[in-house]
Formats: sequence, C-alpha cells, structure tokens
Amino acid sequence: MIRTSGLTKSFGQILAVDGIDLDVREGDIYGFLGANGSGKTTTVRMLLGLVLASSGEIEVLGKRMPKQAKIVLPRVGALVEGPGAYPHLSGRRNLALSDAAGVGGSRSDRTVRIDAVLDQVGLAGVDNRPVKAYSLGMRQRLGLASALLRKPELLILDEPTNGLDPQGIREIRDLLLALHAGGTTVFLSSHLLAEVEQLCTRVGVLDRGRLVLQDQLDILTAPTGNSVVRTPDVDRAHALLDGRVLGKDGDRLTVAGTDAATLNVLLVREGIRVSELGPDRRTLEQVVLEAATNSGSDRIPAVTPSRPDQPAATFGVSG
Ligand code: ATP
Repeated sequence: MIRTSGLTKSFGQILAVDGIDLDVREGDIYGFLGANGSGKTTTVRMLLGLVLASSGEIEVLGKRMPKQAKIVLPRVGALVEGPGAYPHLSGRRNLALSDAAGVGGSRSDRTVRIDAVLDQVGLAGVDNRPVKAYSLGMRQRLGLASALLRKPELLILDEPTNGLDPQGIREIRDLLLALHAGGTTVFLSSHLLAEVEQLCTRVGVLDRGRLVLQDQLDILTAPTGNSVVRTPDVDRAHALLDGRVLGKDGDRLTVAGTDAATLNVLLVREGIRVSELGPDRRTLEQVVLEAATNSGSDRIPAVTPSRPDQPAATFGVSG
C-alpha cells in the first residue's frame, strides 16, 4: 500500500527524514511512532506529494508519488496537521465544498454521503454550527469526515487524535477499527504509545528522522518464553523460586519458563498469594526503548506507562 526506499528530506542543514524504507501492507493499521520533531509530518507530507523528497522513492497504492498523484490521491483519504476549513461555514457546508471536488453522484447522493460521514465521526448533531465555533476535537473530526467522503482504500492520518479528550480518542479509535474491519488500510502517525499499542497491527518507529524499528505488533510483543508472577508476598515468592527468578520489579517477578500451572501449585502450596500469573510479554514501551538504545539515541525516551484510556503515554522527549 505504501513503500518508500531511501526516502530523505533535508531543510537546509536539517535532515528531517533520513533514508527511510517504509513498508505498509494491505490490511494494516500502521502506527508511525516518533517524538516531536522526529520527522513524522514531513514523511506524511511527502507520501501525499505535498512536499518534494530530497531523494528516495515513494509508491502509494502501487503507483509512483508524486508523479502519479492524480491517480493515487482520489483513492486516499488524508488528514495532515489539522484539518483546513472555512471557519465561517458549517461543517456540512465545508464537506459539501470538498465533496464538490470529486465524490460525484447526484446532489441527493452527495447529501446522503455527507450525512453518513458526519454521523460516522460523531458530528451529526452539530453540523450547522460554523466551524469557528468548533473545539479542536470537533475540527479534527471534521477533517476525518472529509478524509472519509470518497470511501478511501487507504487512510493517511497525521496525529488523528490530536486535541481530543479521552472519550473522543476512544471514538476515533472505534471508528478506525470499524473502517479497518470494512477493508480500509490505515496509516497513522502518533507520539502516543498507548494509542498505537491499542489500535495498530504494525508499527514503525522514527527517531530523529531514522526508522529504527518496523514490524508486526504481535511479533514485537510476542511471549518471551518466561512467566510473570504478581504477588503481595513478593519476597517469600522470590526466596521460594530462587534460581528461576530473572527479574523483580515491585510486586512483579519474571520467572524462567512457561509452566504457569506448576508455578501456581508451588506458590499456593506455600500459602503465597498470587494476584497475577501468566506469560511474560514485552510491552511496546520496552520494545521502543530498546530500539532507541540500539540505534544509539542520546535522548531519554521518557515514556509513561501505557494503560488503556490514558492518552498521556507519550513516546520520547528531546533530552
Ligand atoms: P511533531 O510531532 O512535533 O509534529 P514531527 O515528527 O511531525 O513532529 P516534523 O514536523 O516532520 O516532525 O519535523 C522534523 C524536523 O524538520 C524538525 O526539526 C522540524 O523543525 C524540521 N522542519 C519541518 N518542516 C520544516 C520546514 N518547512 N522548514 C524547515 N524545517 C522544517
């Protein structure tokens, strides 16, 4: 769906994107993760032909970009750096104007389509208000509505949940999952680890313009072959399992091997309370930190724990 090879962009002395090879496959929800300033927006703009690459090649839907933009762009829904809209017009009117640029069909067909996308993004009740009275989240939804008008095969979204509250983030996540289930491939940039971990099937991590990691999420976070035990009696458990304990973090022990049933019998027999027992998996947070370290990043990748519905889980800060 999207392939780049050696894609590079410099702005004068600044190397914003440094030779990246993206591989986004049909059916992916691809999360393009990176800290602020790592080059996400520049990449997205190059994919859409809004900025010319300094070097490298881009294919979107099997066609060269930006050379074949006229064939490619009608099949792509895009949201880049906040939606553009006429502030004095309603959301509906704004959609009708962008609609006029290419959806086709009769006027009533177009009205039905606009109603459908307004409903899809949760703006059905407020579509007559001028856009200048919209919150940032509402503008973001309107941008998404515009991206959806032509029922795109591929969505390219730059920080689609920017400015949304947790409820709004959940709604957009559900919407993207529904679109994905209906056959749309989604490429989204984000600096939110939790968002990508909950939504995406494939992940690329950008660090100062370089793609330091790209793989399926389920492979990156596959079971490690060890077990996790959480217990309020962590010291007793540690003593009992001595020799098999690979790590201790608060009430959490990482224990060699995957035989949870035997482990459970052993602990319970000694009267040790077990609050959690199961296979050990690396979190996306751990994977990203490791990739940043391996790439020689001098940044401190400050990541707050990824918990569902906690949009504050942010990847990386410039150190
Ligand atoms: P954010 O999450 O903050 O939007 P980003 O990952 O999208 O960040 P970019 O906006 O692509 O990053 O910026 C990458 C680098 O390129 C930054 O150092 C930025 O200052 C620089 N840059 C981007 N656009 C331009 C431009 N038009 N002229 C000069 N430098 C630019």
